[in-house]
Amino acid sequence: MFNLTGKTALVTGAGSGIGRAIAQRFAAAGAQVCVADLDAKGGAETVALITAAGGRAEFVALDVADEEAVGALVWRLGALDILVNNAGIGHVGTILQTTGADLDRLYRVNVRGVFNVTKAFLPTMLARKKGSVINIASIGGIVAVRDRFAYVTTKFAVVGITKQLALDHSAEGVRFNCICPGRVETPFVQNRLKEYADPEKAYREMSATQLIGRMGRPEEIAAAAHYLASDESELVTGASLMADGGWSVGK
Ligand code: NAP
Repeated sequence: MFNLTGKTALVTGAGSGIGRAIAQRFAAAGAQVCVADLDAKGGAETVALITAAGGRAEFVALDVADEEAVGALVWRLGALDILVNNAGIGHVGTILQTTGADLDRLYRVNVRGVFNVTKAFLPTMLARKKGSVINIASIGGIVAVRDRFAYVTTKFAVVGITKQLALDHSAEGVRFNCICPGRVETPFVQNRLKEYADPEKAYREMSATQLIGRMGRPEEIAAAAHYLASDESELVTGASLMADGGWSVGK
């Protein structure tokens, strides 16, 4: 079940958190994984964890917002079976607390990054009439999240990109889905917590937004990605898989 032997995967932002867990899980299932990240130290750590566990991985330094660098990566890697657009950054603030520069910065990584990498690698998948593209969106791509104007704006775009790609290209053998995590305990959330006057209280409140009363773990998002990457999910395209502990259901 969910065997990825013989498949080549690229996971962006795999030097930390959710991306690292996805890279580890794919490698454990037999895939050859390219760990792409801005952060060379984190990327090297991910590769070391994978190889120590007997998997196959290589690190590539990549800024997903750099279209030229992404183009060069296609020449280096060739065809992909699985692409996970995971690299993403956050910002806290209402529209009045968000500058144009903040919005541009988030847009460059969270939206242009998904555009750049998908556009560059999609022809390699279409040529072989197979492939799975998985975008890591967010609960913030489905419902509004208080004080996250720029972030929510970009994550709604990621959900829209996923649906549009599915409509335009699913008939050609490539599938496109996104995963919408709620709060997941990663450096991304740990850094946010440090911005609160009382981080422990903020931690409790963040955990309580999910019906299950706790945050997610990166390994739980990796399990969802593993399903969407595998041939067992062949029926699934254009989906937004909620992995949010029930947050989006309502209160
Ligand atoms: P994380 O721990 O901060 O890891 C993100 C990784 O992406 C970091 O290694 C980061 O490098 C890298 N990165 C940032 N900008 C990049 C760029 N331009 N090009 C390549 N790599 C880049 O974050 P995470 O929590 O695992 O989040 C991963 C994804 O899940 C994001 O898209 C995020 O929006 C989404 N998500 C997270 C949560 C959550 O609660 N954690 C919830 C919903 C959705 P640097 O450290 O050098 O910046």
